Amino acid sequence: MAVSSWLASNRSPTARRILRVRGTIQGVGFRPFIYKAATALGLRGSVWNDPDGVVVDAEGDPAALEGLRLRILEAPPSRARVERIEVEEAEVLGLGAFRIRLSEEGRATSARVSPDLAACEACLAEMADPADRRFGYPFINCTECGPRYTIAHDVPYDRSRTTMSGFAMCAACAAEYEDPRSRRFHAQPNACPSCGPRIWVAGSPARDAVEAAVTVLRGGGIVAVRGLGGFHLACDAYDTQAVARLRERKRRGEKPFAVMFSELASIESETVVDGAARDALLGSNRPIVLLPRRDGSRLAAALAPGLREVGAFLPYTPLHHGLMRAFGGPLVMTSGNLSEEPIAAGNAEALERLAGIADLFLLHDREIHMRADDSVVRVVLGQERVLRRSRGHVPGAIDLGFHGPAVLAVGADLKNAFCLTTGEAAILSQHIGDLESYETQRLWSEVRENLERLFGVSPTLVVHDLHPGYHSTALARRTGLPLVAVQHHHAHIASCLADNGRHDRVIGVAWDGTGYGPDGTVWGGEFLVADLAGFERVGRIRPVLMAGGDAAVREPWRMALSWLMAAGMGPERIATPGGETIAAMIRQGVGVVSTSSAGRLFDAVASLAGVRQVTNYEGQAAMELEALAVTTEEQYPLPVVGGPLLEIDARPLIQAVVADLERAEPVGRISGRVHSALAGAIAETCRRIRERTGLATVALAGGCFQNRLLTEQAVGRLGGLGFEVLLHTRVPSNDGGIALGQAAVAAWRAVHVPGDSR
Ligand code: ZN
Ligand code: ZN
Ligand code: FE
Repeated sequence: MAVSSWLASNRSPTARRILRVRGTIQGVGFRPFIYKAATALGLRGSVWNDPDGVVVDAEGDPAALEGLRLRILEAPPSRARVERIEVEEAEVLGLGAFRIRLSEEGRATSARVSPDLAACEACLAEMADPADRRFGYPFINCTECGPRYTIAHDVPYDRSRTTMSGFAMCAACAAEYEDPRSRRFHAQPNACPSCGPRIWVAGSPARDAVEAAVTVLRGGGIVAVRGLGGFHLACDAYDTQAVARLRERKRRGEKPFAVMFSELASIESETVVDGAARDALLGSNRPIVLLPRRDGSRLAAALAPGLREVGAFLPYTPLHHGLMRAFGGPLVMTSGNLSEEPIAAGNAEALERLAGIADLFLLHDREIHMRADDSVVRVVLGQERVLRRSRGHVPGAIDLGFHGPAVLAVGADLKNAFCLTTGEAAILSQHIGDLESYETQRLWSEVRENLERLFGVSPTLVVHDLHPGYHSTALARRTGLPLVAVQHHHAHIASCLADNGRHDRVIGVAWDGTGYGPDGTVWGGEFLVADLAGFERVGRIRPVLMAGGDAAVREPWRMALSWLMAAGMGPERIATPGGETIAAMIRQGVGVVSTSSAGRLFDAVASLAGVRQVTNYEGQAAMELEALAVTTEEQYPLPVVGGPLLEIDARPLIQAVVADLERAEPVGRISGRVHSALAGAIAETCRRIRERTGLATVALAGGCFQNRLLTEQAVGRLGGLGFEVLLHTRVPSNDGGIALGQAAVAAWRAVHVPGDSR
């Protein structure tokens, strides 16, 4: 203890305070930070993890105790997010020298597993220092960075329960691990070149594996790179032929590829990066950020055909940093899988599954226990919004704000993620994918078992979508547990409420492609009066008939035909083979289903405007229509009619679009007017619902609100009418976020709706 603080603690009265620190503070170097701060302030006592965060029991000068509290609030470790500190006065006991208590002591001290963290500046500086013993080491990490969720298979989180258990630390690493002053004190994946994991090229004795990979990449080849949550497939992002080859081999039609850049400045030279986007790119979860491409960008157009934006991200593992530095230019880094299968994670598995795709395999021997794809975000209205919630976010909890039973919400079938609740915490799984395939369903079960183990949750209730034919509904039934069904669009709105920490009744605008309605029709342009307990449908887009089920989703021209006929115009405007058959089906009402879907209305417009007749990924037509749009205040007629169920009648809009096409208006202007009209109709419908209900808050949710133009315009109009508007931020607005809503509804009903047994 320094002499000055020894004098201070001798002169002033001694106090003891227990500080309970809440937030994202485990696995980010928080206890060593407290240790250093407390000892510097001359305090005695200890610090430890508890299930909700970190507890500090400290004794000493009251001014020093206050100093500690302020340090925690004002200068916590860079990766920590302190939400609040509860301070409790306690009886002075004469505590011993300050120390860190380990997870193994005491009962409820099991530290939760935190999300994976991008390599920190301090580690990267060491990695770049030729004098450092970890110079160039691709697995360098510390308490503030490195793998977490992807390597942990049980709790409490320590090395023996991770895939690092097989690597015995050398003396130098062990000394760091034991030293409370070290950045690597209890850094569970701590390693160095002499004791830790290594990289190599499959089937090659190459001494420098990274250099060997770079040689293949420079030659236009494709390299499979084993990363943090799985394999990436990499190729030169400037090389049009390499990108085309990757598409062909991966059997990935036109779905966009993400691009990794070596540094922020390179991203800024190819795309437009604003403040919020910069923060997102540099966040410790290093997501893929969708950014508008600059004019004259050298990036291959085939990266994201038909779209104005490209998904860019920065290296997040030391291996990525080494690879990017050696290669220099941007690299396509797309999930290592074949079309819609789960991402490959094991070496043997990748060598087999990616054999026809990659020219070279860059492997390593730190096993990936949990697969996790890269997360994807988009900045809308100045705020980062998660579109795919995966690596770096999971298994971070979302606070429900109320205590409920343990619930498993299985999610939807597309972009599946499921949700577990325990107490007030909702834990959303990583992005699982489309439940169509057996492999994805198996991954779903694997992730579920893992998360239940990590959080010690045994669900007593299982929630599923109302859709009787969903694969996710079948998975729910298979659990044998009591079931609750939640309607798709109610779940979207509930998810938006939970994402915003709200439980009140709102006007919910749930716009997406498809969701099963209780009346057996396809919903997707819905206005609900909803809270977590229930909903009432008060408005919708006037339905049309959709011919041929899923084919109508893949082939937007079918929806164009439906809307033309509904608007009293001849179907012969759609000169597609099979058009007459579809027209006949619609006329006779055979093989058709009624739909109020907003996504399908976007499809119809995209088809009429000649943007796209057949899609090869979900939402493609609407995304391309948005990409073309010229922002405008002009709008097509789109009346809100009827009552008590309000209807947005899109027939005049369709007629106006056709008239503009006949006048050879540019597609961008047409698209702009359509977006503007839809935003206006949303606002007008909400205004009329407010007249009736007095509700002044609107929640916008569903896949359509990934559309920036629609969202910005709708928020603008609603704001102009004095509405408070809730949007998604932490959880996807698409079906990837639906499990949170399902869980919130079921947990709420179990607690607040007596006798509810659905
Ligand atoms: Zn670090
Ligand atoms: Zn070592
Ligand atoms: Fe949906």
